[in-house]
Amino acid sequence: MKKFSKILVVFLMVVTSVLSFAKEKLYVGTNAEFPPFEYLEKGEFVGFDMDLIKAVGNKIGMEVVIKDMSFDGLIPALEANKVDIVIAGMTSSDERKMAVNFSTPYYTANQVIILNEDNNNIKSFDDLQGKLVGVMLGFTGDVVVSEMSDVKTKKYNASYASIMELQNKKIDAVVLDSETALNYIKNNKGIKLAEGKGELEEYAIAISKKNTELLEKINLAIKELKEDGTYDTLLKKYM
Ligand code: GLN
Repeated sequence: MKKFSKILVVFLMVVTSVLSFAKEKLYVGTNAEFPPFEYLEKGEFVGFDMDLIKAVGNKIGMEVVIKDMSFDGLIPALEANKVDIVIAGMTSSDERKMAVNFSTPYYTANQVIILNEDNNNIKSFDDLQGKLVGVMLGFTGDVVVSEMSDVKTKKYNASYASIMELQNKKIDAVVLDSETALNYIKNNKGIKLAEGKGELEEYAIAISKKNTELLEKINLAIKELKEDGTYDTLLKKYM
């Protein structure tokens, strides 16, 4: 009996120490097709948002678990509690604010027009009239272009597919977020940016309206990461 209780004590000590080391998990929804914010490299999730959210996880003492899904499935996943937060270069638009809460913004971008290098007749968003324009389903660029009259859209699930179709002259232009567009232009020959730019948009982390406690913790973590230099280091690394 004595021996048994000793074993029991040791066993319980092991269990409690393991439990105290196991951090609570933070399930993070993203769409890893948006370089330099989130993309896959050798099977790993990498990018500005991925590093930022890991740093946030460290600050709030939670273990980040990434769940990759289609962009238009992200807010539904948040609402169905399948993920705790979303970080996906997501613009904190008024429309989305009706469904979810957003953290303090962490990046400012705008929509831009990507063209084939030999296209000199599209300079601004107004020039898209009468053209066939590639947009990504559910992105802010989709909303902006779909609201314009006389512009036809072709909707894609992934931006690289729209770039390929542009290069093959299947579409006249692609409207996409600035930083991701620059990334494609850097890595692909024969495409360029039009001069005209869309309005500014702010990227933020989306959180369920029910989870205000987590929102506060995340905002505090972002503030600290901006103050301690981590945020600037990440900007330099990816932009
Ligand atoms: N910023 C755009 C949006 O929120 C695109 C985001 C993305 O593709 N990941 O719709």
